[in-house]
Amino acid sequence: MSDFRGLYIHVPFCVRKCPYCDFYSTAECGDLRADYAAAVVRNLREYPEQFDTVYFGGGTPNLIAEHMPGILRAVSTAPGAEISAECNPATATLETLRIMREAGVNRISVGVQSLQDNELKKLGRLHNAAQAEELILQARQAGFDSISADIMLGVPGQTADSLTDTLERLAKLPIQHISAYMLTLEPATPFGKSPPADMADDDTMADLYALCQRLCGERGFHQYEISNFAREGFECRHNLKYWRDEEYLGIGPAAHSFYAGKRFAVRRDIEAFIRSERQPVEITDDSPGDFDERVMMGLRLSEGIPEELYKPFEKALKLIPGEYYRLEGGRLSLTGKGFPVYNYIVSLLLAHKED
Ligand code: SF4
Repeated sequence: MSDFRGLYIHVPFCVRKCPYCDFYSTAECGDLRADYAAAVVRNLREYPEQFDTVYFGGGTPNLIAEHMPGILRAVSTAPGAEISAECNPATATLETLRIMREAGVNRISVGVQSLQDNELKKLGRLHNAAQAEELILQARQAGFDSISADIMLGVPGQTADSLTDTLERLAKLPIQHISAYMLTLEPATPFGKSPPADMADDDTMADLYALCQRLCGERGFHQYEISNFAREGFECRHNLKYWRDEEYLGIGPAAHSFYAGKRFAVRRDIEAFIRSERQPVEITDDSPGDFDERVMMGLRLSEGIPEELYKPFEKALKLIPGEYYRLEGGRLSLTGKGFPVYNYIVSLLLAHKED
């Protein structure tokens, strides 16, 4: 457990909206960026504490690279803090990477999604595979030695061969971390309203996931969370706070916080955020961090949960096939085979919890 909170800064700008994405962002970003950065700094002044992780997520954080030095000057970071920023291969350049590195960013997460041009087109992405590979090399050139690649499982038309090719090419690049998220249909998006005909079905998705687990493992990226793989020591410290149910502060529209014992969310409205002296928030949970929540979050991680949390499940565990979990060193965790059936296991355990 860290002594410091994490800080999340949402950057709600994208050059164009991708048809599957329901993250809060706007393509009308031209004139708003400077005012937005000023509003972030204004809000940060309300929290003069030290943070040991900072995460610029989005949206497309590299679109405000020129404002990152000013924003980071307003943040007090603990020694050795992890400072991450997501980057989009369609718009980030060596120059923007250098600005970010000089501003103090020390971890880059590249939105690769796939290294197959046909799959990127189906996702409506503006970059191609060569640009994604080039951006990773440029990140190294700009001085980043902690680089993550986001990929997507279940892209329309994705096959075992195409996923293998993507992962093999990625593993040859100077990356230390891979996040592999399953494509899901979000109701309010164009994909949600009219799903592509060749969306992966459940069986295909399960096969692609198992293949991803195997290939990442064989190439030295150990699975430390359902969707995340890393070389030893390169796990994302900021995201670990979410799964360990530790506190963090979120700045920017649509950002969530777990702060001073409460969860709150900022209104999804850029202009209100820019106009307001303090970001407009709504409390979403008065007493977070309860038992069920800690079990649900903790079982996403390969480190699992301690005895105080799994004790009430000792009988229920007998209902679960032994290959899905391990009880070791006073902790309960899911195995690689258990992760794909995480939802089933967690609901079964919670339904049979004993006092
Ligand atoms: S997927 Fe990324 S680039 Fe595309 S709209 Fe969503 S946040 Fe923007």
